Amino acid sequence: MREGELVEALKVRALPEGSDDHGALVEFLRLYRDAVQFVVNKLWSLDKVPSISTLHGMFYSELRKLGFRAHHVKQIYVYAKAVIKACKRNNGRKPVLRRLTARIDKYDYKLDLESRALILKIHENREVKLRLLTSTERIEKYKEWSNYEIAVKVVENEVYVAVYFKKTVKFRKPRTVMTVDVNFDNVTLAVFTSSGELLKLKRFKTPLRKILTHRIWIERIQRRYSRSWRFIRGVRRAIKRHGERIRSIAWDCAHKLGDRVAKIAGRCRAVVLLEDLNHLRDRVNGGSSFNKKLSLWFYRKMLFTIGYEALERGLAVRYVNPSKTSSTCPKCGSKLEDSGSRVLRCGRCGFTGDRDVIACVNLLYMYSRCGGLGVPLNAPKPDENPSGMRGKRDEAMKSTNINLYQS
Ligand SMILES: [Zn+2]
Repeated sequence: MREGELVEALKVRALPEGSDDHGALVEFLRLYRDAVQFVVNKLWSLDKVPSISTLHGMFYSELRKLGFRAHHVKQIYVYAKAVIKACKRNNGRKPVLRRLTARIDKYDYKLDLESRALILKIHENREVKLRLLTSTERIEKYKEWSNYEIAVKVVENEVYVAVYFKKTVKFRKPRTVMTVDVNFDNVTLAVFTSSGELLKLKRFKTPLRKILTHRIWIERIQRRYSRSWRFIRGVRRAIKRHGERIRSIAWDCAHKLGDRVAKIAGRCRAVVLLEDLNHLRDRVNGGSSFNKKLSLWFYRKMLFTIGYEALERGLAVRYVNPSKTSSTCPKCGSKLEDSGSRVLRCGRCGFTGDRDVIACVNLLYMYSRCGGLGVPLNAPKPDENPSGMRGKRDEAMKSTNINLYQS
């Protein structure tokens, strides 16, 4: 997502209008799939997938001869390139494409949202008319957005369309900075003035306990049927149900919390600082691989919804490398030691504080060091006692309007 640009997909079922339209669409999708496969076959043995302009030279005239429009051709080799990259990354074998699906450029379709009429330009200059099956309420939202691409697929004779919309967001001038630290069991946010004074501190609980309860059920079932659970339908289903509950609880939480955090950010007119998703992996240290995967998945959902909700409110979102933010002393920069129940202590300067609050403060430092605030912040001197960072964590959480940098 580019800065200030929101992208969303509207996914709906569609009905072909004319009697020939379904057949023509399926024919087009087959042709399209075979063309992608053709490009994949040609490129598979190459060590490196050529650039888009080379691909254009290699395939343009050949694919045009098959009856595709110019923009179809481009979509075909771009898609083939993505397929090859994905398969090679997974150490896979050469893919055999089966699904009937195509991405279609804005030059090759016409969409009238009001009447839900979609006209696709397919091969040999033919057209297919589709009617989108969706409610007025769902469409209402996108009246102010522009659409730039669609994906169409046929599954078991049903037609599905995804319309990709985008909207440019005008940023409001920020007054404060909000940092957010996401953990599996809580989300902590801190709001600072541009000179680094703490204005607000808040912690939200996540439904970790509920999620773990379902996880324990799954493990119990798997233990009881340790040899057979994969093969008994009822057992497999029970496991699946618990898995679905876990996902829906986490989704639900991500949405609610994302919304609440972004609301606060909106009221404070904050620049929102989040952890850079690409560095998240280092931080995840759970026991089993299941917990690792689950928490990683949860972080991503959480950070995505916060970022998205903030953008929708016209707030800028910045991503900061979070490495060591939860293990570095904000006063002297030494490594912090764990002194139990999420409290960290600095062996060098004696600083103690809540783990999540420290992470929030360090995110702010990281950002200011990269010039994000315009002015570099000075970390508090070792003999200072920032009241917000001392004592038990609940004390720290209750107080607002704490000056972190008394001098
Ligand atoms: Zn220290």
